[in-house]
Amino acid sequence: MSRILVTGGAGYIGSHFVHRYLKKHPEAPIVVVDNLSEGHRESLDGLKTVTLLQEDTGDRATMCSILQEHQIQTVIHFAASCYVGESQEQPAKYFENNCAKTLVLLDAMDHCGVKEIVFSSTCASYGNPDYVPIDESHPQMPINVYGTTKLMVEQALRAYALAKGWSYVALRYFNAAGADESGLIGEHHDPETHLIPLILQAALGKRNSIQIYGDDYDTPDGTCIRDYIHVNDLADAHIAAIKYLRCNPGGEVFNLGTRTGSSVLEVIDMCRKITGKEIPVQVSQRRPGDPAVLVSNAEKAHNLLGWQAQYDLERIVATAWHWEQASRY
Ligand code: UDP
Repeated sequence: MSRILVTGGAGYIGSHFVHRYLKKHPEAPIVVVDNLSEGHRESLDGLKTVTLLQEDTGDRATMCSILQEHQIQTVIHFAASCYVGESQEQPAKYFENNCAKTLVLLDAMDHCGVKEIVFSSTCASYGNPDYVPIDESHPQMPINVYGTTKLMVEQALRAYALAKGWSYVALRYFNAAGADESGLIGEHHDPETHLIPLILQAALGKRNSIQIYGDDYDTPDGTCIRDYIHVNDLADAHIAAIKYLRCNPGGEVFNLGTRTGSSVLEVIDMCRKITGKEIPVQVSQRRPGDPAVLVSNAEKAHNLLGWQAQYDLERIVATAWHWEQASRY
């Protein structure tokens, strides 16, 4: 069994990937590198074949020795900072964590002869779309720092593929949400900035209300439209991507979404339906860096990876609600 290294494997999407991968390959050894700045050690509790190393991907010597010692064949690179709003306020943090540290990781891989990587990219790399649903050939003109940093890494990967014969897959996630049905893992950011957990926390009375960031967008109800995709669907796409890149040298990018857009108000209504709670709302200013609409065309992933999203918004919210009521961390 070839070995994989998962950066950010104790984080939200990374931990769901680790659990899904082990469901498919129960004996597989997995090395997780996570500096635990955002990740949760508890998310990997009880996983016997997982080695969790609390290290930073920006430490070249450490990454080289991990890649060599564990004979890594493929890197699954989740580790990153992921808040659009924060990225606008602290660009340097995002260029450091998402670009500089990734470039160090790529250099370490190059040094150790590791040539396969699956990378977590984002729909935020497209910017304000010229058309929706967005396919992979849509121009990438990010309007926030977060999307810019992810695009920069996509370009670095392309360069490594051309210069060094690497194989990579960049997965452009739309809006990750939901939790595994087991109740063992789920979304916990500190501070939380993502829409669905914030609404559910308001439903639980942990917050007074949910703020709607702008209701004057050019959309049917004036609120932003996003394509919410279940975290297990994202995890499964990574498993398909590993298989794909081993048979298809070079680079490929895939959108991961459901092709269904939901407005902020529609998401709030779904949360009201699932929770049976009122959930007070307040309209506030637009959040800088937010495009009005982001909806995926993920046909390419369907055609080439054999992947398709299985969860709709109702199941996404139901699994997030299950987690939010009894979160372990
Ligand atoms: N949003 C909102 N109120 C909040 C958090 C988010 O209205 O408290 C909106 C945000 O403007 C965006 C959508 O919800 O249009 C999804 O935002 P989130 O931060 O969950 O994900 P992002 O799109 O930034 O990746």
